[in-house]
Amino acid sequence: QVAASFNLAQAVETTLRFFSHAFKEGVDVNTDLPAYVEAHGDQNQFIQVLINLIQNALDAMAEKQYPEGQQRALKIWAVEKGDYISLHIRDNGPGIPEGIRNNIFDPFFTTKDVGAGMGLGLSICHQIIAEHGGRILLESNPGEFCEFVLEIPVTPPIL
Ligand code: ADP
Ligand code: MG
Repeated sequence: QVAASFNLAQAVETTLRFFSHAFKEGVDVNTDLPAYVEAHGDQNQFIQVLINLIQNALDAMAEKQYPEGQQRALKIWAVEKGDYISLHIRDNGPGIPEGIRNNIFDPFFTTKDVGAGMGLGLSICHQIIAEHGGRILLESNPGEFCEFVLEIPVTPPIL
């Protein structure tokens, strides 16, 4: 267990800044995060998780042909659930087919070309979130979207 806390919205904003150059290539980024939420855990490790998820979203969206008038889109929003918060990271890329959903968190599982992906990103995400007492869940409609949900314990307010 990790005894620290960080501001969730700030961690997301910091991560998005690392990708600002990539987003300028035509990704519509949309966030909706409560400013005051403090999550339980290590900020740098959490940022590492976000980097992996956003890089995957960019890789996936780059592979998809979009219909006329549709744009690559990344949405990040949080839903407060009491003692935890769920952070949703959704891209409108190709999604993940049913057949491989049980494999994507395995170390070295990748569908990318040799040299393009080592297949470690999601296994690292899974491990970091587990060490923080949280969960990482996947929702996807192939052809429509891919969404990862991070359930992260929140620090109780100091009264
Ligand atoms: P890598 O990115 O090196 O392939 P990851 O562990 O990060 O390894 O991801 C494993 C696999 O999960 C990817 O190769 C891809 O098939 C799938 N995946 C992960 N994120 C997405 C996403 N946002 N959209 C579609 N597929 C994804
Ligand atoms: Mg990856």
